[in-house]
Amino acid sequence: MKRKKIPTLYLIIPCYNEEEVLPVSKDIIEDKMKTLIKNKTIKKDSKILFIDDGSKDGTWDIIKKMTKNKLYSGVKLSRNRGQQNAILAGLLVSKKHADITISIDVDLQDDINVIDDMVKEYNDGAEIVYGVRKSRKKDSFFKRFTAEIYYKLMKLMGVELVFNHSECRLLSIRAIEGLDEFDEVNLFLRGIIPQIGYKTSVAYYDRNTRLAGKTKYSVKKLLKLAFEGITSFSVRPLKMITFFGILFFFMSIGIIIFALINKMLGYAVEGWTFLMGSIWLVAGIQMLSLGIIGEYIGKIYQETKKRPRFIIEEEII
Ligand code: UDP
Ligand code: MG
Repeated sequence: MKRKKIPTLYLIIPCYNEEEVLPVSKDIIEDKMKTLIKNKTIKKDSKILFIDDGSKDGTWDIIKKMTKNKLYSGVKLSRNRGQQNAILAGLLVSKKHADITISIDVDLQDDINVIDDMVKEYNDGAEIVYGVRKSRKKDSFFKRFTAEIYYKLMKLMGVELVFNHSECRLLSIRAIEGLDEFDEVNLFLRGIIPQIGYKTSVAYYDRNTRLAGKTKYSVKKLLKLAFEGITSFSVRPLKMITFFGILFFFMSIGIIIFALINKMLGYAVEGWTFLMGSIWLVAGIQMLSLGIIGEYIGKIYQETKKRPRFIIEEEII
């Protein structure tokens, strides 16, 4: 399905203590938007929407000044809620005004020219377009290494992620309405968005270094996000307890046989056979019981999320 109507774009940019980079990236973003409007890629009423994620520096003052120009809008969150929630706020605010949204970091590490490809994919019918990094050469070794391990771990845990996709993505209003059906408080967008469904596509771009300022992701924030990703989407850690319980149980049988043979051959010290056997057997039973409790907790956990069971794409009645 090709779309013919020119879409209204809201560019969603989360900012946390970004007074250093805002004035630098502003001109680049503004130029880009103006070119897109001039080329009739996007409609005239498109906007750049900054979300101030509870900054403690002059970020909001800068944003407020910018909104004198009709091309800009701003939303200020009451306190720092993290990039994920800042983006969500931007998406939900845009829902009433835009046809499409694209989220991008204010430091412009993600090449802003990816917008053209994203809109093209949208015009070709996609509701979600994932921005994917061509390479991570400009990221630090530590970041590349940990990211690689993280993707592998997530795959092992059965969480569906798009490789090398971060928070740069196009969402149509329809996709945002789908996202709005998810009631999660612990937000990990990269995990939820693939669950929305619809026609999706990918746009590739180069990843650069920060234009100015320092990263706003402390190691603590990064670890929290990584952990959120696993625990919000997978009950596999709980299932692993059951698995180990069963494994220990069978191992205990082996150990008991081994201990009995030792006793019969006269190698064992008095009492050793009983001790060995009971340690393994009891450990196995305990682990298995924990696993069974875990299975129930897993079910409760999934129920409490109240995630939508389906989102209807088309209805012919
Ligand atoms: N950010 C935010 N809230 C936070 C931390 C970061 O809104 O608590 C924003 C930040 O202003 C930037 C984007 O999220 O626009 C990505 O952050 P950053 O560039 O510091 O992360 P990195 O690229 O180093 O992973
Ligand atoms: Mg960055």
